[in-house]
This record gives sequence, C-alpha cells and structure tokens, in this order.
Amino acid sequence: MFGKNKILKAEIHDGDYLQVQEIFLTLQGEGPNVGTPAIFIRLGGCNLACDFCDTEFDSYQEMSLKDILLQIQNILQKNPKIRLAVITGGEPMRQPITKLCQELQNIDLKVQIETNGTIFRDLPKEVQIICSPKISKQKYYPIREDLLPKIDAFKFIISKREPYNQIAKIDQNKLNIPIYLQPMDEYDQTKNKENLDLAIKLCLENGYILSLQTHKKIGLP
Ligand code: SF4
Repeated sequence: MFGKNKILKAEIHDGDYLQVQEIFLTLQGEGPNVGTPAIFIRLGGCNLACDFCDTEFDSYQEMSLKDILLQIQNILQKNPKIRLAVITGGEPMRQPITKLCQELQNIDLKVQIETNGTIFRDLPKEVQIICSPKISKQKYYPIREDLLPKIDAFKFIISKREPYNQIAKIDQNKLNIPIYLQPMDEYDQTKNKENLDLAIKLCLENGYILSLQTHKKIGLP
C-alpha cells in the first residue's frame, strides 16, 4: 500500500492453490460493471509498488482452489442471484488464475479481472479483462503486447500531479474499446477535487467515461 509493499514476481505453478487476501461480497464500485453485486476475490501481492496504491494486499494466506471455491459457494448459497466474480489484487495475473477462472465460469459466474497489464496469462476468452495501466514515480509500466488484444476496457487513474499522460501511450485507433477515467484518491480534499475536475474535462473533450470509486462513497469494501 502507498508503494511500501514488497515487489513479488509472477508465480509459475498449476494454480491449484493461490495466495488470497480476502473473498467478500460487495457492489463493484468501478469501471464497466459499476453497481453490480459481485464476489470479490482479492489475491495477495503485486509485481509493482505504486506510490498512490490504496489497497491492502500484503497480508494474504495460501488457499487451495477447492477451499476458495467452497468459500464462494457459501456466499452463493446465501446470495443465489450473484452472477459476477471479480478477481483483483494486488496484481491478479501474478498468479496462475486460469483454473480459478474456469471453475468460476463452470458455476455460471461471469469473471472480471482487474490488472495492471504487465503480466500475461492465457485465460478463457469469456473473461472480461479491465486494464489499468500504471505510472508511478514518473515511470510508465507498459502493457504486454500479447495482452493488448484481449483487453475489454481501460481504466486510467487521473491525477493533476502526474506529469505523464499514459493515455497517449495507447494506440486508440487500434483498440476501439471503452476508456474509463478514474480520479486518483490522494486522501486530500483539494487534490481530489482537482483530479475530479481534470477527469471530467478529459471525458468531455475525448468521450471517455468517468469512473468514480462508488464503493468508497457508500462505505463498502
Ligand atoms: S499495480 Fe495496482 S495493486 Fe499493484 S501497487 Fe500499483 S495500484 Fe497497487
């Protein structure tokens, strides 16, 4: 969190166990499925350490795929109408999640992944991939070329203090997919207002879609 996390490498194994921070039911607060009830599977660890990161993902435990699915089934038993599972992190692609995605699809859950785009995994084609490219400490972390054609939407984090325009690094003519702009939460009312104003301006000028962290506003995790 806030760039203080340990940087972890991509894991290579069969995906029968995963490092899990938490599994919980909430409303998706960001991007294309905003407002949709979803089971969040927050995986531990990240391969980057962004100084603005607002997520705790360092205190994870190793769980078998069987136990992960059991926990999800327990949530579904109490909430049978849930149709969306969001795999997030940390960086979810850091771990071999293909089997998890397949198992979630087998129980009729739509799967959404939130990734920084720097690691490739061969996931089932129905998985919705939302890529939020990252700049931290003025360094841009490019998106993997092999991942680019599989991305369903971009979500850029906008801050007035960020001197680089990472949106310009994406060839928008080649990738005709929705672009969401999300004002960075800098835990400072004045800065946050400036970030919101900038995001609104960029949306109006370019036809991008504004994404607010709705879950924070309504007090959900
Ligand atoms: S890539 Fe995302 S989860 Fe990882 S440190 Fe950056 S903001 Fe946090």
